[in-house]
Amino acid sequence: MDYQNIFLEIPKELEQIADKGNVASYIPELSNINPDKFGIHLTTIDNRNYSLGDSDEKFSIQSISKVLSLCLAFKLEKDELWSRVGVEPSGSPFNSLVQLEYEKGIPRNPFINAGALVICDVLVSRLSHPKRDFLEFLRRISGIENISYSPRVAASEKSTGYRNLALISLMKEFGNIENNIETVLDLYFNLCSIEMSCKELSKTFLFLADYGVHPLTKERVVSVSKSKRINAIMQLCGFYDEAGEFSFKVGLPGKSGVGGGIVAIHPGQYSIAVWSPKLNEKGNSYKGMKILEFLTTRTRSSIF
Ligand code: GLU
Repeated sequence: MDYQNIFLEIPKELEQIADKGNVASYIPELSNINPDKFGIHLTTIDNRNYSLGDSDEKFSIQSISKVLSLCLAFKLEKDELWSRVGVEPSGSPFNSLVQLEYEKGIPRNPFINAGALVICDVLVSRLSHPKRDFLEFLRRISGIENISYSPRVAASEKSTGYRNLALISLMKEFGNIENNIETVLDLYFNLCSIEMSCKELSKTFLFLADYGVHPLTKERVVSVSKSKRINAIMQLCGFYDEAGEFSFKVGLPGKSGVGGGIVAIHPGQYSIAVWSPKLNEKGNSYKGMKILEFLTTRTRSSIF
């Protein structure tokens, strides 16, 4: 498929999309971003690249990093992991406390905040220098050397992260957090603060489009089975309580972040990243979702 012609149609399509949504402001640093930024980048598994707009500009990837931390924790912990976190859609907001109480401290899935905190706890237990080792893993699998945390964004989130503190405290009380909660939260806030561009995200996530092997670096990042399962979790749980809507309209496994980024995967074909900071009421990029819907429909490349 030649995506070029369809990429050329995107600016016109953007003009027809209403200017809706709000930039996330509960993390103070995120509210400083220019709300009109827009970037998109698609990379095929045979390394054809299609780009538009601010696709080379780094932004806060926020919860998109939850996919990458899951990959590393799943590699280290294997199926033992699933005794501490589920694989079911939550149907609740990403930072909800309600289900945790009923489900005795076992989060519904690794992409809601509670689940991602358990994943960070696994990494703290398993890695000798969790922050440094995670970054090394990310740089190696992406082949991109200058990926980093943003200490500014991490500190900003820490200063207002009371819900994440509540979630981890509740799980600690239920016995599902092994380590010191400050240490685990520090890793969590840093992972959320990672900055990458659409181009970098789309290239990094290519291994999930090629059954676990990164087609550019040739590294086997995860097994075929793990790649299948991680895509399945993205399909079911990647968009907070709007995962059904994303499947319905876009029809690809994917993951969003409150920085306005979305990554989506077409197994066997491509990985795509889009960035537009204004979020809909569920916390997903308003324009990002619309453009991906347009793209998968025009290119007939949803998985359905
Ligand atoms: N750092 C954000 C939080 O914990 C991540 C939210 C997101 O991107 O879904 O609230």
